Amino acid sequence: MAGESPRREFYVATPEEIRSGQTSDIYFFRTLDVLKKAGKDRVRVLMETTAQALPNGWPWAVFAGLEETVNLLRGRKVDLWALPEGTVFPPKTPRGIPVPVLYIEGPYGEFCIYETPVLGFLCEASGIATKSARVRVAAGERRVISFGVRRMHPALAPLIERCVYLGGLDSVTTPLGAAMLGKEPMGTMPHALTIVMGGPREAFAALQKHLEKRVPRIALVDTYYDEKTEAILAAEEIKDLAGVRLDTPASRRGNFASIVREVRWELDLRGHKDAKIYVSGGLDEASIPALAAAGADGFGVGTALSNAPSVDFAMDIVEREGKPAAKRGKFGGRKDLQRCAKCGAFEVGAGKCPACGGRMGPAFVQYLDGGRPAADLPGPDAIRKYVLEQLRGKGL
Ligand SMILES: [Zn+2]
Repeated sequence: MAGESPRREFYVATPEEIRSGQTSDIYFFRTLDVLKKAGKDRVRVLMETTAQALPNGWPWAVFAGLEETVNLLRGRKVDLWALPEGTVFPPKTPRGIPVPVLYIEGPYGEFCIYETPVLGFLCEASGIATKSARVRVAAGERRVISFGVRRMHPALAPLIERCVYLGGLDSVTTPLGAAMLGKEPMGTMPHALTIVMGGPREAFAALQKHLEKRVPRIALVDTYYDEKTEAILAAEEIKDLAGVRLDTPASRRGNFASIVREVRWELDLRGHKDAKIYVSGGLDEASIPALAAAGADGFGVGTALSNAPSVDFAMDIVEREGKPAAKRGKFGGRKDLQRCAKCGAFEVGAGKCPACGGRMGPAFVQYLDGGRPAADLPGPDAIRKYVLEQLRGKGL
């Protein structure tokens, strides 16, 4: 705010600053001022949100960030329709029409300053949820834990952990994120424990003796010696060894899949067939399948998720006072987006599915009616389940 000290303890905006438009681009305020003076700020418009294309040519994305969008616009005199949060959508329909994910209708002056934060909610959340879903597909049924919080500002921890969970990951690592999701935070041990304890044998003995009984004992086995050596030490020191984690630095990795196979063999030899092998360190959907094939039971994925490419949604006016009006390069008018109940394909105004011939139904749900809630917003477990059903349905 003008006149306030530019210094802050932490450089994050408060919810009140977001609501009052302090994180919105100034040109919207200037536009609003001009429109008010011209007597046009109550002109009724329909704004459409589309992605046109997805990062890296992804064929589909997971729509996320809707709950925050509805929370921001609740109480404004607007109607809001959207794909349900967690919908897996392609950038364009088979006919080549960009898939709309969200419509806001109302007097332009009622919501124009919110374009910046709404896009921010949708673009970042959808990027993280999509990357997580891609990792989920790559990992199959194996466990995937998010290690992404440390790569981004801590104020974003709840957002990141919610989005990775919606995208299909199994566990998150922070108390705040886990509590928000109603889960237990998951974690193993850092290299620091081995170093501070004076070596891996000492660290594993301390884990066995002192770690809370209810926490599964997972030993990090690459601090000083090679993974096999430390895995054997862990097997000797930890009676109830639940698993080992390999976080091998890239400079020492060689053939990571071979290392996983060797560790599996040595653990099995020593009667630890039930001990799982977790791997972490710079993993993404491209590197996971070979490690899974080598016998890795679970993955810690960090940077690839929290730093996922943003889904570049754009918001455009497509109707003015109920009549089609759109800028060059955009399709005017409200699109009657339909989704196939059988295969999940999208098309605009189609009665029959272009892909399988199945029955199509309306793709949108109305979430706000004159600013009042018009439909429930499902919780994270329901959204995650919906995402996983769609991923399975696609045979990915
Ligand atoms: Zn179909």
